[in-house]
Amino acid sequence: MSQESIPYSRQDIREEDIEAVVSVLRSDFLTGGTQLDFFESTVARYVGAKHAIAFSSGTAALHAAVAAAGVGAGDEGITSPNTFCATANSLLYQGARPVFADIRSDSLTLDVDAVAAAITDKTKVILPVDYAGHPADLDELMALAQKQGLIVIEDACHAIGATYRNRRVGSVSHMSIFSFHPVKHIAAGEGGMVTTNDDDLAEKCRRFRDHGVNRNTPQMAEEPWHYAMESLGHNFRLDEMSCALGASQMQRVEENLSARRHWAKKYAEALGDLEGLVLPFESSDVEHAWHLYPIRIDAKKSQLERQSVFKALRDRNIRVQVHYIPVHMHPYYQELGWRVGQFPIAEEVYQQTLSLPMFHALTPGQWEHVVNELKEIWSQRKCHV
Ligand SMILES: *Cc1c(COP(=O)(O)O)cnc(C)c1O
Repeated sequence: MSQESIPYSRQDIREEDIEAVVSVLRSDFLTGGTQLDFFESTVARYVGAKHAIAFSSGTAALHAAVAAAGVGAGDEGITSPNTFCATANSLLYQGARPVFADIRSDSLTLDVDAVAAAITDKTKVILPVDYAGHPADLDELMALAQKQGLIVIEDACHAIGATYRNRRVGSVSHMSIFSFHPVKHIAAGEGGMVTTNDDDLAEKCRRFRDHGVNRNTPQMAEEPWHYAMESLGHNFRLDEMSCALGASQMQRVEENLSARRHWAKKYAEALGDLEGLVLPFESSDVEHAWHLYPIRIDAKKSQLERQSVFKALRDRNIRVQVHYIPVHMHPYYQELGWRVGQFPIAEEVYQQTLSLPMFHALTPGQWEHVVNELKEIWSQRKCHV
């Protein structure tokens, strides 16, 4: 049985990825070269969106999308507490107020009715999160947004390759955000992307990435050096090494997804009988992307606390993780006035959940080790009861 430590997620780097990065290092451009367009067009084509704009991180991409949506001081955006804090932070960067709405108890994505109830005359955007790789209720959210004149910015950092009613995530919302951090499906080192079908939003995202500069001014004909800074932006560019790595990894995205789907199916088959262990949900109108494999432990039915299962697995060299501490429970958000108890479903899920190892290069031996150790934890419990 394998004794090496098994992370909850990790990158899968092959020789062709290394060659792609090395060839950039031998070229003339380490940033702003041909790999940027190659990576962007690869992702745009894959998700079925007209535009893809690469950023230095998923967080930068979220920030740009919020800015492109015209969100500013005094505005509000509605998002899920069941996410990494970057989703809500993107609103704070623009001086806006994150407003949380509770999640559905099955998919653990935003509850559309809770979103509708949270809309005020200050609301500008809705930021659903495709938690673990399960798409949020995108059609319902887009319909709600249309009725209220809002923009949907989908945090799809977990969900590249997921489908929603037969459409790929990245082509459904006004803007969708991907991350290429090494724990996600596609590793670029750091990196992120906005995809959109809207020409105007795409141009705003591009400008925001590059100091708000317009490099296509009428004066250029007479003054070839000319450019005009027309709004405030950042340097959120993604370098050529990262673009080359991301584009190379994208060539195996389907293989990556089918490995995850295989392991998800195997986990469900192997763990379905453990009393009080709740498997992740997959709605019949989606194909899950399985960035995470979050199980839930019902303490009453299992006679086990998440805390003790977490510790027991960590002691057995299985580096499980908890996704997520609800964002409103962080000290910074408590200072902003949010209170524990406001989002009971997200808070209960947080007490129960734990993410098992799930990644492209997970081996049969590693998978078996995780399953055997879980079964042993459950059987030892029986002795004590
Ligand atoms: C990873 C992640 C982000 C941030 O992406 P970075 O590339 O790490 O900046 C945002 N939202 C969610 C849900 C994520 O998982």
